[in-house]
Amino acid sequence: MKYPNEVIIAEVGPRDGLQNEKTILSAEAKAKLIDQAIEAGFKVIEIGSMVHSKAIPALADTAEVFKLIKNKDKAELRVLVPNLKGTERAIAAGIKKVKLTVSASESHNISNFNRTPKQTVEGFKECYDLAHQNGLEVSGAIATSFGCPFEGEISIEQIEQVVKAFIDLGIREISLSDTTGMGNPKEVYTKCQYFKENYPEITWNIHFHNTRGMALANIVAAMEAGMSRFDGAFGGLGGCPYAPGASGNVASEDIIHMLHLMGINTGIDLDKSIEIAKEVKMLVGHDVDSYMLKAGKVSDLIKERPKKQIKICNA
Ligand code: ZN
Repeated sequence: MKYPNEVIIAEVGPRDGLQNEKTILSAEAKAKLIDQAIEAGFKVIEIGSMVHSKAIPALADTAEVFKLIKNKDKAELRVLVPNLKGTERAIAAGIKKVKLTVSASESHNISNFNRTPKQTVEGFKECYDLAHQNGLEVSGAIATSFGCPFEGEISIEQIEQVVKAFIDLGIREISLSDTTGMGNPKEVYTKCQYFKENYPEITWNIHFHNTRGMALANIVAAMEAGMSRFDGAFGGLGGCPYAPGASGNVASEDIIHMLHLMGINTGIDLDKSIEIAKEVKMLVGHDVDSYMLKAGKVSDLIKERPKKQIKICNA
């Protein structure tokens, strides 16, 4: 089996993780977490969303958060923008990268926006053009690429329509997102292999939620299909609105731990990422879904064995 030598992990906790939290962190606390992530070695961080303050109160201060980040130049800091207004706000804040998101699901888009996913992307043209003219990088994201609560399975053809619409805009970096944690490794392999092979000019990011415990297996399947960029959230924050109480994004520190055991470089200090997850757990004030926080590293276990003289077998 062939795996990449190096994987890029984007920390999306400040946006995808914190947006669902009841406890709203201060801009200072968010900026501090982002600086800690930069210090740990994360090269890409999704710091927030330029939405109306009433839409997602937890992310209303994204511009302020950006201002407070000390090491802005040491990582790519991106924000989500839903529309032209959001794009204008990102430009005004001095942000250098924006992400446009659409759902691959027709029924979801039509019921919410009265447009197909393809029409939604075409409607992003003014956002793309404005961002591009102002020197911002623009990426696209396709939510529900691995299953939709309204539509069930999402076909490659459905995703491809949206991919082509993004490419027509001028976008060359696209995320495929398993927004509600419905994807399985076989499906992930098939879809990732198709898009990697047919669109080699695209930088692909893959975004998994661990809602049903399949995220790490899905990352392995995506790597086998040639993918090497994944999103994760500190402490596994980011629950699913369709499954209250379920796990959120796959925890960044769990991905890093697995990849390092597999001999795959991430450039991220695992211990520092675990410290961030501990702090996040304290800040949000509830237990989080992180194997690293619950069980610790494999290497911790091996080191402890002689000290404790654990009796493994009675036979
Ligand atoms: Zn997500």
